[in-house]
Formats: sequence, C-alpha cells, structure tokens
Amino acid sequence: MSDVNKSRRVFLRTAALSVAAVPLARIATHVPAAHAEKPKAEDGHALDYVNDATTSEHARYQEGSKCSNCAFWSGEESGGWGGCRHPQFSDVLVNANGWCNTWVPGG
Ligand code: SF4
Repeated sequence: MSDVNKSRRVFLRTAALSVAAVPLARIATHVPAAHAEKPKAEDGHALDYVNDATTSEHARYQEGSKCSNCAFWSGEESGGWGGCRHPQFSDVLVNANGWCNTWVPGG
C-alpha cells in the first residue's frame, strides 16, 4: 500500500469517527426537563407555606406537623427537600420541615 493510500485511509476513518461522535456527545449531555431539579419553595409560595413549620402562626398549625409527615409528601430528593403531591406545589420542592395549611396526617 502506498503512503498516499494509507494517509487517505487514516483521514477518512478519522473523519467518519468525528461525524459519528457529534450525535453521541449531544445524547450524553442532554438532561431531560423531567429530571431537572425543581426550585425550592419560598415562604408564602401557596397555602400559607413556610419552610420551617415551627415559625407558622397559622391557626391550623399543630405542633409536630410538617411536610415529612404529611400525606402529600412524596419523599426526600436531596438535602432535606422533597416533593409534594398537592397541585399547588407541583413545580417546586418543599422542605421536610415545612408546613402549609393543607397539611393532613400521613407521610
Ligand atoms: Fe407540606 Fe403537606 Fe403542605 Fe405539601 S401539602 S406543602 S407536604 S404540608
């Protein structure tokens, strides 16, 4: 095999691999929106929500009630923050020690 043919073969193989790598790189870096972490709820997000249940001055608040023992709590996702199944909180994470006026025993 001549040096020209060998160089051409190496060039074509490298070019083909480079073209194939682009879509793979896109797949590897793509993070589906469903898996992106939701923002954390702030005090007053909805339904008199507070991140620290003990600070609530709401008439319905009962000592010991908090998101992590509420029927709407769907479990911790990271660092004390987790999901709430109530529609008012579908777009945020709530604090395990948070509370809102819709709290119901469960969790
Ligand atoms: Fe927390 Fe329950 Fe209110 Fe959701 S419904 S924010 S889990 S107290």
